[in-house]
Amino acid sequence: MHNLQTNDKSPVLSIVCPAYNEAPNIRPFLQKLIPVLEKIGESYEIIFVNDGSTDDTLESLIDAKKEFPPIRIINLSRNFGKEAALTAGIDHARGQAVIPIDADLQHPPELIEEMVKKWKEGYDVVAAKRLSRTGEHPLKKLSARLFYNLHNKISDIDIPADIGDFRLMSRKVVEALKLLPENQRFMKGIFAWVGFKTAVVEYYQEERHAGTSSFNAWKLWNFALDGITSFSTVPLRVWFYIGLVISGFSFLLGVYIVLEVLVDGIDVPGYASTILMVLFLGGIQLIGIGILGEYIGRIFKEVKRRPTYIVEDEY
Ligand code: UDP
Ligand code: MG
Repeated sequence: MHNLQTNDKSPVLSIVCPAYNEAPNIRPFLQKLIPVLEKIGESYEIIFVNDGSTDDTLESLIDAKKEFPPIRIINLSRNFGKEAALTAGIDHARGQAVIPIDADLQHPPELIEEMVKKWKEGYDVVAAKRLSRTGEHPLKKLSARLFYNLHNKISDIDIPADIGDFRLMSRKVVEALKLLPENQRFMKGIFAWVGFKTAVVEYYQEERHAGTSSFNAWKLWNFALDGITSFSTVPLRVWFYIGLVISGFSFLLGVYIVLEVLVDGIDVPGYASTILMVLFLGGIQLIGIGILGEYIGRIFKEVKRRPTYIVEDEY
């Protein structure tokens, strides 16, 4: 690594990189990223957000910065999660174009050159679309596909299935992102919500360079719930229609029973159907209440107006 550039106040490009326990990846990542940025030839800053790592990520970053001043380190006070870390990085970026990228080399830095080219052609967003999901479990791929299908059917916005957080955004877009005040930030949804003229570039996703993904099945499930409850009220409203259908049926059933009693007289059997109905309706009601709970929980978190992240220090 060389020592060409000093920290310009407002560079052309801001690379934003959330890092949680990525110590072994920092060097290899920079070794790939820096030549790409040098080749583009614009001024730049590389913002790492250390999201409460428990390994030597911060130390590696500080070491790297000594050799390479365009690095900025935003050290969060604990692990706030990727969405919050990404938000912190974007908030601190000063560039005319901001490019979030993962630190684990699953997002190829070489693509940045093409993104910048598209940006200069006049696109405000250049999204990277993955043509493969190497390094992901088939079940994760399947559940991701199901999630996007469901999400896009019931939400106000469409999130393209193979487009993640790796993208370029112009200053205009970044300022628009900052207008969204929610502190539970489902970034894919927020990116899609702001809109703007978008170009797509394609890449093949690689295996993680070192370490393991920090998203297990339970985290992904909650992430999916975040996504849906952040951008759709369909799960809340659907209960009105379910209720309408069920009460319609029970009215018809009532009429039928009265007629049956009038014609055939009183009939005692019916234990099975009664218990079935009670259990079925009980289950439906609990699901409904559970979904209400999901939203109320989120409203509760949101009305407290806590900050999305806390910065401990900056380097
Ligand atoms: N990350 C983060 N905070 C977290 C979890 C992950 O900043 O709590 C970062 C991580 O360092 C990486 C990116 O987010 O740069 C993507 O994480 P990961 O590779 O674990 O997720 P996956 O690629 O499996 O979606
Ligand atoms: Mg990864």
